[in-house]
Amino acid sequence: MPLYFGPSLGGRVRKSGIFTELLVPSGISIALILESLTWEVQSLKPDSIRQHLRPYSIVGKRQTTINHAFASAIAVVDEFDLAAINRSVRELGQNPDSDLSCVYCGKEAQTWDHVFALVEHGQYSGFGHTLGNLVPWCKQCNSQKGNQNWEHFLRNKQQDETSFRDRAQKLTTYITREMPPRLTNEDIRKLCPAEMEEMERAKNEVIDQMEKADTIAALIRKKTKNHLTRT
Ligand SMILES: [Zn+2]
Repeated sequence: MPLYFGPSLGGRVRKSGIFTELLVPSGISIALILESLTWEVQSLKPDSIRQHLRPYSIVGKRQTTINHAFASAIAVVDEFDLAAINRSVRELGQNPDSDLSCVYCGKEAQTWDHVFALVEHGQYSGFGHTLGNLVPWCKQCNSQKGNQNWEHFLRNKQQDETSFRDRAQKLTTYITREMPPRLTNEDIRKLCPAEMEEMERAKNEVIDQMEKADTIAALIRKKTKNHLTRT
């Protein structure tokens, strides 16, 4: 059973199950291509418990999550229109009557996600939940892309020049034809100044309340700690 063992990243070993071949007694080779089955196994060292042995923070890294939630809420949204979706899927070079494939690697797609991020420098970027910005992804590409520009990411995924050009061309067509005009955060601020100011205030209040809760939690931990002495 051939397995790919990727590079070890900081003590983590990534293992992907991609292809399994069974040779049955009759001599017939049965190839089971398990492209959808990708799993990760991580080695665990004792000192990695360190990250759990520290006070939990409610606000923690949630500023990013909160920025994303507030940006998502004001982002432009396309209505569901099957004819338009089928047309746009064809622009991506795919058959709308079949299962979709990941626009970056070609493997079976498992989710829809945005090509352009909704948040830029902590604010709404102007890209929304629309055709032209939502594409089919496999979970692996979805977790790998991060903040990379789509073209740069595609280049890493498609080393072969012809494959890269073909996919890049289709994505460019899709983005150009289907993406609605872009209103940035600043544009929206000009159109709805009072509402945008109130949204900013609401966001800051959410963060303030989480920080306040963190302070209260620290007091609770301090007061309860003395009652937790091991015998
Ligand atoms: Zn992919």
